[in-house]
Amino acid sequence: MTQPTYEQIVEWDHSHLWHPFTQMQEWVGEPPLVVASGDGNYLIDTDGRRYLDGVSSLWCNVHGHRHPKIDAAIRAQLDRVAHTTLLGLASPPSAELAARLAAIAPAGLNRVFYSDAGATAVEVALKLALQYWRLRGETRPRFVALTEGYHGDTLGAMSVGFSVPFHRFYEPLLPVERVPAPYALEREDGLAPADALARALEVMESTLANARGAIAAVVLEPLMQGAAGMWPQPPSYLAEVRALTRRYDTLLICDEVATGFGRTGRMFACDHTDTSPDLLTVGKGLSGGYLPLAATLASDEIFEVFLGPYEDYTAFFHGHTFTGNALACAAALANLDLFTPAMLAALPAKGETLSRALATHVAPLAHVGEIRQRGTMIGIELYQDAVRRIPYEATARTGHRVIRAARERGLIVRPLGDVIILMPPLSITNDESTRLVAGVAEAIAEVTDA
Ligand code: PMP
Repeated sequence: MTQPTYEQIVEWDHSHLWHPFTQMQEWVGEPPLVVASGDGNYLIDTDGRRYLDGVSSLWCNVHGHRHPKIDAAIRAQLDRVAHTTLLGLASPPSAELAARLAAIAPAGLNRVFYSDAGATAVEVALKLALQYWRLRGETRPRFVALTEGYHGDTLGAMSVGFSVPFHRFYEPLLPVERVPAPYALEREDGLAPADALARALEVMESTLANARGAIAAVVLEPLMQGAAGMWPQPPSYLAEVRALTRRYDTLLICDEVATGFGRTGRMFACDHTDTSPDLLTVGKGLSGGYLPLAATLASDEIFEVFLGPYEDYTAFFHGHTFTGNALACAAALANLDLFTPAMLAALPAKGETLSRALATHVAPLAHVGEIRQRGTMIGIELYQDAVRRIPYEATARTGHRVIRAARERGLIVRPLGDVIILMPPLSITNDESTRLVAGVAEAIAEVTDA
């Protein structure tokens, strides 16, 4: 099969494609980097240039691209069947994966409901929570979520997230009680970490106490609010919120779409404090970052409330055409096989290698205001005046210019505003980690010293 030329691809792309999270007016003004293939931790463009995939192809690739074991698992499944429905039928990879996920998930999460994106996994969790209370004879219409939370771009997922640039046009459709996590209070109100933690827990407690009986669930990204720009939480926050949701008799939904599958140094962020939520969402890394697959894990207690005779119509009437897709589940099984005990044990050291490189190369830069890290999730925040925390004007496009300068150095990264995000595949080597961080530091220096 002849491959189209770069010019042909750009002409199709610029004439017909609408890119996600992209100002298309700007996009069509720049020649795009066209990724033609991948190889381990690298992306390869149409001219054969190799780039280190510093954000895991939007936070999802886990063990590298074209991993022989995952490729082989997908090929083997392809020789059986690509997709069959879970509506009225079962399938081997979806059943085995459900059992494997239940075995590794935080205790008590024994049921797996599949969907195909992080956002849909969150929608499922929200709907399960709403229906759970109705089936128990209560109407609980409200959720509590974190300031600057992000859970995806469908309406329900947007409701429990919020960011002004992302969501302002939809705001009337998105009712929710928003409370700050500790970092938000450090950042906005200048509180010291211990005071911010205490205050955040007070606000959570008073919100739950005041709306007792009306809150379906508290929804949060545990340990690291990724899309906020990597806002970290002290691990004890999650454990304390779990205790509060129990005390005030509401559900806890942990969204591990970004943090799941090793990113924080443990399999799940919840594992750092042995926290078991009532519902847990995963996506992105579930299939090794290969295919669109997500899942919502539920406790037995939630599952059992939905049981009853058919004619009571208490079933969960929700599903998507590609729910439990066989190729994606086969990829996910191979992905889980690669999480050997040795691989998991080596994860903290990967984070430490990155920390050391950040301290050496990035921390000394004049316009770096803060470096936030958990495991291999990193945010580097740039300011016009780092001491007084004065941001750059949006028109300066500082973050964007930095990632373009990094690209010149063979590194693919992506900013969130003026926060440069690094989230390499877990398969990144020590040398690659150092090269990634040193190269990004050079790019920051080039752009911000100009
Ligand atoms: N939840 C979290 C915590 C996320 O970071 C994201 C995506 N960045 C989502 C949900 C949405 O996932 P998707 O883009 O697959 O819908």
